[in-house]
Amino acid sequence: MRLQYDAADEAFRAELIDWLAENTPPRELLNSEKLSSAWMPDWVRAWQRKLFDAGWLVPGWPPEYGGRNATASQQMIYFDELSRRQIVRTWNPQALGIIAPSIDDYGTDEQKQRFVLPTLRAEIGWCLGMSEPGSGSDLASLQTKAVLDGDEFVVNGQKVWTSGAQHADWCLCFVRTDPTVPKHKGISALIIDMKLPGIDCRPFPELTDPDYCDFNEVFFNDVRVPKENLLGTLNGGWPITQGSLAHERAMLWIDHAYLLQLAVQSMVDLGDRIGPSGTRLGDDPKFRDSVASFQVDAMAMMAMGYRGFSKFMAGRSAPEHSLLKLFGSERMQQCILAGAEFLGPNALEVNEPGPRLWRNGSWMIQYLRSFSATLPGGTSEIQRNIIAERVLGLPR
Ligand SMILES: Cc1cc2nc3c(=O)[nH]c(=O)nc-3n(C[C@H](O)[C@H](O)[C@H](O)COP(=O)(O)OP(=O)(O)OC[C@H]3O[C@@H](n4cnc5c(N)ncnc54)[C@H](O)[C@@H]3O)c2cc1C
Repeated sequence: MRLQYDAADEAFRAELIDWLAENTPPRELLNSEKLSSAWMPDWVRAWQRKLFDAGWLVPGWPPEYGGRNATASQQMIYFDELSRRQIVRTWNPQALGIIAPSIDDYGTDEQKQRFVLPTLRAEIGWCLGMSEPGSGSDLASLQTKAVLDGDEFVVNGQKVWTSGAQHADWCLCFVRTDPTVPKHKGISALIIDMKLPGIDCRPFPELTDPDYCDFNEVFFNDVRVPKENLLGTLNGGWPITQGSLAHERAMLWIDHAYLLQLAVQSMVDLGDRIGPSGTRLGDDPKFRDSVASFQVDAMAMMAMGYRGFSKFMAGRSAPEHSLLKLFGSERMQQCILAGAEFLGPNALEVNEPGPRLWRNGSWMIQYLRSFSATLPGGTSEIQRNIIAERVLGLPR
């Protein structure tokens, strides 16, 4: 197991830290707007572009894509330093983490040229059309269909939970192109212009904030998509769903590791608040025990992540990473719940200063919001199935 970074890695870290110190937008700005996943006001685009121009948006990518061919350990340093500082590099995470890499992996030269750089430069925003009312965890059962008619696919059906669809320029959309073959084999991926006639986006408000709509239902009614917007081969969409979800999961474990740390730090901040019994929470031994237990788990999670990473660097498989999303998202949720329980009725107050986790909101709101972390990229139950079958080798 390798426990240190070498001199080149540390030089990379030093350069990154210096750059971030000079260039990161002020925290007030980062927290100031309720941004949906594809709504990018000017300063958001400018910030992503600044990272891109400096080679700090996607350091693992080659220089022609604005990267610096950073090694895996340097990329780990990169995510570590950003997450440690709660710096968000993009407000269109599905574009950066899933869609651009998928187009780079499966796209034609023309598609790569047309979409990858403009996406990285924040010139265009994306949504991801996977889930449907009857197809979430069982994505292969999706029903939105596309029929080839001359030079165009005609798309009909409905997606749901489509983050940021109302603001997105484009959608990477998974559709059924052959209903006669086993379900995994009849799916294709289409790049759909969200301004095409026949697309109806219906945003719906979130339980945690009625003024904030990130989720959408998206209806496709005889939408005509040019044939050249097929990504990969006809009926070859399933490996793309697997590839893109692998990218998403790779992104999520790091997020979850730090979300748990942030939740613990937020709880530490609560120590100065007065609890329901009228005393300072930090003076309550049960509160201190609880904080310590979450802190130990946060540290264990980071250690597990680094152990998996060390195996990965040595070319071995790293089952640890399958556990991290599950453990991190669930433990983070338990931590927020514990904070709310210690606060008692005060958990309903608007928090000032608030938990450092998401947009502002009371501890109760943060608790409700924490459920969403256990769903995308594979729900907790699906993660458990994966661990049971693929890591432990148990029967289906
Ligand atoms: C914040 C957020 C953002 C999202 N953004 C997008 C997006 O941009 N685009 C998009 O397409 N989708 C998006 N989703 C949707 C997400 O991918 C789905 O919610 C997820 O795949 C689960 O599908 P579902 O909601 O249909 O639940 P279902 O699959 O219907 O599951 C319902 C329950 O049954 C359980 N379950 C299902 N199958 C099994 C099984 N085999 N074994 C055991 N338990 C099972 C699940 O764990 C869950 O508890 C987003 C979701 C969230 C929370």
